[in-house]
Amino acid sequence: MGAILHTLNPRYSPAQLVYILNHAEDKVLIIDPTFIPLVEGVQDQLNFLETIIIAAEKSAIPENNLNNACSYDDLLEQESSEYQWPELSEDTSSALCYTSGTTGNPKGVLYSHRSTILHAISIAGTMGFHSSSAVLPVVPMFHVNAWGVPYSALINGFTLVLPGHALDGESLYELVQQESVDCLLGVPTVWLGLLQYLEGKGLKMESVDQVLVGGSAAPYAMIKAFDEQHDAFLTHGWGMTEMSPLGTINTQTKKAMSLPTEERYQLQTKQGYPMFGVEIKTVDDDDKELPRDGEASGALKVKGPWIMHTYFKAEGPAVDDEGWFDTGDVATIHPDGCMQIVDRAKDVIKTGGEWISSIDLENAALTHENILEACVVGVPHPKWDERPLLFLITKDGNQIDKQEINDFLLEKVVKWWLPDDIIFVKELPHGATGKLLKVDLREEYKEHLMEK
Ligand code: AMP
Repeated sequence: MGAILHTLNPRYSPAQLVYILNHAEDKVLIIDPTFIPLVEGVQDQLNFLETIIIAAEKSAIPENNLNNACSYDDLLEQESSEYQWPELSEDTSSALCYTSGTTGNPKGVLYSHRSTILHAISIAGTMGFHSSSAVLPVVPMFHVNAWGVPYSALINGFTLVLPGHALDGESLYELVQQESVDCLLGVPTVWLGLLQYLEGKGLKMESVDQVLVGGSAAPYAMIKAFDEQHDAFLTHGWGMTEMSPLGTINTQTKKAMSLPTEERYQLQTKQGYPMFGVEIKTVDDDDKELPRDGEASGALKVKGPWIMHTYFKAEGPAVDDEGWFDTGDVATIHPDGCMQIVDRAKDVIKTGGEWISSIDLENAALTHENILEACVVGVPHPKWDERPLLFLITKDGNQIDKQEINDFLLEKVVKWWLPDDIIFVKELPHGATGKLLKVDLREEYKEHLMEK
């Protein structure tokens, strides 16, 4: 219809939501009734908002103080059932997602009809979806529009199964059984719960033959569990909001399937091969391309028809003179073209598929009157992939009660941002330019949350 669909992540703090809604200049807000209190609290700060549509039947809408709100039913009643679709140029904007995968405020990535459709056509082929597939994305729409899968379902005619709010192992298993789902998609954290439930009950998913995992690295144990217990192949993919999202994928090739089992699992832990149309390279600190020898690692750069050039409303382009976008990931490319992520250069922590800005958390801690220096690093966590640790130097040299710090932080950040542990130190490692050397701390504390 020519409007731009902006899918919003409700887990942001109210202040961040206000920033994003105003930055996007959103005019119409469509919400579930559960979000009425949240919107009531911020609606006066939303500068462009004209209408709120509550996506529920009239009878399911509680009393509220929303300005200019109507139910979805009301909206439909007022409209004719005929609609003249406009003719739009393929470069017209179609959707907008914000990402915190960089420093500073969340940034907007604006997709066009062209980029979205090219990506949606391509992923169906690479993921092996066809009209008889039933695909269950356990990925929110605000995470790159559920990885583009809903668009792909429309184009390719496969069945799209949506989980709603119930993401626990039992509910997911029942949905898989009921709809004979053959492909699952989601971040690793989601599958831990499902695998645990199935193992505990001695159940097997008979219909599923593929599980597409991305957003964070797929662990070896998960690849093995899906194969051994469910005869399901874990297809490991890598991408970003800025890439619509898919960039590389590690599919079930003849070559992979002919490897001895353990070797194949090892191969599956890598992020895979670039999709048709996507180019990748790794570069050193001088932007010189590195050899594809499976050893040299450097900044991973990408280019392609569904990869962003400029963040929404940003002044300059996000790509270099030759059009390469620096992903902020550090990778190795193997001689056969397989890409493997080895580290992340961005100063952000990815927990259960969502970002925490270490800088924002440090700044929040630094407003405490007795804190001299603060440093936040992400360390491995058995359930959430990564969780934040907060290192503190106090002004008086004494420790502060951890609960007091958490209560203080809660005034500034949302609860799931709170550090999993707070560690008091006498000094923090600094580089030549005065920057905190987080790599050293990450290495030293990499087992800290795994042992608990
Ligand atoms: P987002 O834009 O929130 O989807 O985050 C994109 C970032 O998630 C990437 O730049 C990586 O840092 C990380 N990521 C995505 N997929 C993978 C993967 N398969 N392995 C490791 N990191 C990943």
